[in-house]
Amino acid sequence: VTRVPVARPDAIRRHNLGLLLGQVHRDGEMTRAELTQRLRLSRSTIGALVAELTELGLLDERVPSGGVRAGRPSHVVAPRPGGPYAVAVDLDITHITTAAVGIGGHILARHVVETTGTPPGPREAAAHIIDAASVLAAQVDGAARPVGIGVSVPGTVSRRSGSVEFAPNLNWRHETFGAMLADAVPPSLPISLGNDADLAVLAEHLRGNARDCDDVIYLMARIGVGAGIIANGRPLRGYEGFAGEVGHNVVDPSGPHCHCGKRGCVETFIGEQALLTLAGRDEAATTESVAKVFADAFNGDPLAASAVRTVADALGRTIASLVNIFDPERVLLGGSLAGVLEFARDDVVRALNRDVLGGSESAPQLMPPGLGDDSSLLGAAELAFADLLLDPVGSR
Ligand SMILES: [Zn+2]
Repeated sequence: VTRVPVARPDAIRRHNLGLLLGQVHRDGEMTRAELTQRLRLSRSTIGALVAELTELGLLDERVPSGGVRAGRPSHVVAPRPGGPYAVAVDLDITHITTAAVGIGGHILARHVVETTGTPPGPREAAAHIIDAASVLAAQVDGAARPVGIGVSVPGTVSRRSGSVEFAPNLNWRHETFGAMLADAVPPSLPISLGNDADLAVLAEHLRGNARDCDDVIYLMARIGVGAGIIANGRPLRGYEGFAGEVGHNVVDPSGPHCHCGKRGCVETFIGEQALLTLAGRDEAATTESVAKVFADAFNGDPLAASAVRTVADALGRTIASLVNIFDPERVLLGGSLAGVLEFARDDVVRALNRDVLGGSESAPQLMPPGLGDDSSLLGAAELAFADLLLDPVGSR
C-alpha cells in the first residue's frame, strides 16, 4: 500500500494512527521511545496516538518490568489481548484451514477441515468457512470482534470482481466466491480474496524469511504450483492480477497431462503428484502421502530418493527461468518444495547453475519459508487487516 501524505489535521492524525498501529502489527511490542524514533514524531504526539489506539481497544501499554536503569522507563506498547482479530482462511485442495489471527500476526485459534474425495465446490467451501468462523468466535476472547475475512485461494483471483477466475485443481472457473461468502456474513465483515502464492510472499516479506529483501519470489508446490513475486519491494500483480502462474508454463508439450487441460506444465514436473508418481506410488497427494516420500528418501529408499532428486533437477531449471526474468535476490521454496530443498539442495543448485544465464554468480539464495506452512494463511490475515491499518478510526 502506498501511503500518500495528507494535509487536514484530522486526516494527518488518522494517517499517523494507522502508521503507529502498523509498526506494532509488523514488528511486535516496542517502547514509546522506539516509536518516537521510528515515526519521527514528537514524544507528546506519540503519547496522544498511543492513548487513542488504547482507547479504541487496539493496543495496550505497560511499564516494563526488571532492569534497573536511570530515569523513567519508556512504556511498552503492545497489541491488546482480546483486541480485534482477522478471520484468515487457507483454502487448499485437501483441507481448509481457518484461523483467528490477532494484531501482530499471532494465531489465536485454528480450525482445520479435511476435504476428502473430490475437492469442494465454491458453495461447500463457503459453508465450511462460515461454520469455522463461528467455531473460532467461540474460542477467542469473548469481547474480541472479527475485522474481516481474508481468503487464500489456489488459483487466479480477479482484482476487479473478487471472483475466482480459474482454480484448476479445485476445478473452479469464474466463480463469484467472494460474493457467496459476503451473502452469508453481516455487511460489517468485509471479504477479500487473494492468490495463495501472492499472499505467501506478502507474509514472508512482512515477517518471514524475506523481511529484509525487496526482490523475492515465493515458489510453492502443494497440489498446484505457483509463484508470488515481489519486485523492487512491490507485489507484482499484472494487469488482471494473475501474475505468477509459473506452474502452468508449458515446458514439454508432449509431457504429462495437467489439470489445467494442457500437457507438460511445470506443475507436472515439480508438483506433489509428480513426486508421488516418480516414487512409484499410485495414490493421491495428501499431507501424509507426500511426507512419507520424504521420510522414505531420508531413510534410504532408493526410489523415493531418486524421485526427490528428479524433482530437484526440474525445480532448479524452473528457478533458473524465473531468475532470468526477475533477477530476485532470494527464492523461498514452500510446500513440498521445502522438502525437496532439504533433501536435495545440491541437485537443485546444480540444475539452477547449469541453466541460469551467467551461471552460479547469478544464482539467488534459496531458503524455506520462515513462517512454515502458514505463509498463505498469515497473508490472508493481512488482507483482512488492511482497512484497519489504513484507518483505525474509520474501520471501527
Ligand atoms: Zn497446467
